Amino acid sequence: MMARPADRGPEFLQGLAGQLLVNEPMSRHTTWRTGGTAQYFYTPADRQDLLALLARLPGDIPVHWVGLGSNLLVRDGGLSGIVIRTAKGLNEITVHPGRVLYAESGVSCAKIARRAAQCNLTGVEFLAGVPGSFGGALAMNAGAFSGETWQWVKQVEWVDRSGNISIHPSAEVRHAYREVELPAETWILGGWLALEKAGPGYRGRDRIRDFLDRRAASQPVQSANAGSVFRNPAGDFAARLIEEAGLKGRESGDAVISPVHSNFIINRGRATSADIENLIRLARNEVRRCSGIELETEVRIIGEAA
Ligand SMILES: Cc1cc2nc3c(=O)[nH]c(=O)nc-3n(C[C@H](O)[C@H](O)[C@H](O)COP(=O)(O)OP(=O)(O)OC[C@H]3O[C@@H](n4cnc5c(N)ncnc54)[C@H](O)[C@@H]3O)c2cc1C
Repeated sequence: MMARPADRGPEFLQGLAGQLLVNEPMSRHTTWRTGGTAQYFYTPADRQDLLALLARLPGDIPVHWVGLGSNLLVRDGGLSGIVIRTAKGLNEITVHPGRVLYAESGVSCAKIARRAAQCNLTGVEFLAGVPGSFGGALAMNAGAFSGETWQWVKQVEWVDRSGNISIHPSAEVRHAYREVELPAETWILGGWLALEKAGPGYRGRDRIRDFLDRRAASQPVQSANAGSVFRNPAGDFAARLIEEAGLKGRESGDAVISPVHSNFIINRGRATSADIENLIRLARNEVRRCSGIELETEVRIIGEAA
């Protein structure tokens, strides 16, 4: 069937090399499998194509970047403006002589962990179980098993809305636990990791396998979720506080506070983003009431309510 002209999107998005989708359900692009539609959803073919897109964007159109949508709750009313998806087009990965690995933001975290280990570079094996993109890991300072992404960052390159690219050493970028301060309307194109040379007898694959096994034993890896919903407050664990508030297994529609790990909310199949947000609100209110602690979300919540 021929697309109606209205389905092709506006003139300024025509003739680019990447893929444009109009009114694309974000449930196809988030690990929670929920969320309304994105007005325009664009996957650049490569870096040049991304720059061509940025050069054409009118100044007033909202821009949202996503990687693999593993830390994202998009509300059911969806997103106006354009979503730019890095995972697919920005996928260069290079290991430089020495111990530096460069990757573009669309490369998956798992690929980075594997490539580093294959090259006998150690440090980021923990990324193997983070189901996001490198750009997402850099934007969120993803971490696990006492490792953190920014512990290994040498420098990052970012692009602003006008397409200006600049490189910034890690000391220039304020970062903390699950937090990175980027200038407004600036997005990460790629980053360089300075890793450690592994010693004799290093078996990267075994180390990665061990991390994946530990994760499988403690997290609801079979159900749709977005990892830890809340950041751990200083000196405590969000999961412990949620469990103490008696919320393990609580439901809203088809969303459930995981009986396996209380800081995970799972979608049993038909949950909406509103169901998930109800549980987020419930957990914050009950934890505040029971322990006086204000939980902050680690997941990013965007879009309009239905
Ligand atoms: C089963 C499971 C386990 C998980 N385990 C962990 C874990 O152990 N540790 C951990 O830290 N996280 C974990 N997560 C959360 C998530 O995988 C990480 O936060 C990941 O880094 C997000 O990457 P993403 O590409 O999916 O980002 P998205 O969800 O696509 O985006 C998240 C945020 O980053 C921004 N962003 C994405 N790409 C860019 C870019 N290139 N430039 C600027 N901003 C960008 C987005 O705009 C958004 O605000 C887990 C999630 C799941 C589902």
